[in-house]
Amino acid sequence: MVEPWDYRYLNSSANRQLESKIPAQSLLGANERFHRDLGADLGKLAVVFDLDPRPDKSPLAYTDFLKRGRVVGSRWQSPVARVVGTYPTGGLYSLNELVHESGHAVHVSAIHTRPAYMDWPDTLFTEAFADVSSWSVYERAWQQRYLGAEVPAATSLRSLFGDVMLDVSWALFELRMLRNPGADPMRSGPTSPAVTCASSRTRKCRGGPCACSSRQSRVHGELRPLVPCSRGDTRAHGRNRSGRSMRAIRGGTDG
Ligand SMILES: [Zn+2]
Repeated sequence: MVEPWDYRYLNSSANRQLESKIPAQSLLGANERFHRDLGADLGKLAVVFDLDPRPDKSPLAYTDFLKRGRVVGSRWQSPVARVVGTYPTGGLYSLNELVHESGHAVHVSAIHTRPAYMDWPDTLFTEAFADVSSWSVYERAWQQRYLGAEVPAATSLRSLFGDVMLDVSWALFELRMLRNPGADPMRSGPTSPAVTCASSRTRKCRGGPCACSSRQSRVHGELRPLVPCSRGDTRAHGRNRSGRSMRAIRGGTDG
């Protein structure tokens, strides 16, 4: 039985309709054809694809320099990019992710600058560069051209924006944790146990709208740094002890 609140099932209809056209072994071919059509031959750029499963491999797909570009003698030696991902089942989500990571690989391969600037920051521009190409897989014309089948635009857009919404939610969650690293990631938000308002240590808000008069404390848990938890034992608060970002903990997403 599928319940109306089954977010992932409802938003993955496009994948269910297309998955027979996107087996795992077809991902690289479709990805390479698309990039060749865009003018970026991934083979000529010598992009390395590390896609086979192995123990302890990162569950997170990402792209980075394998070799940085530099001048050797008097000749420019281009950077070499490596895409890391594991796609045992194929499908539309995997294809989107692989195209996205390959977009990063094209970006990395194109960097031509002095050693001091030979880096690849994770900025909004960087992600947008990869999304411009990878979101194409949700277009009907793209699907017809590279998969030989298509689904209605509304079905594809639901799939695309269903994932975008999760990214937005995680970004808000990360902002909250960055503003208050001592907060319990499993409990922050309106359903938190009692928190003490920053402006009035004697008042307590127990979820829902805050009764405090201070504007600063009205929205507790929502990007408000001055709302410490009333529980004295800060050791109980779930810090990210591994040092990994919450993005990495999320798993199944890209870097
Ligand atoms: Zn990315």
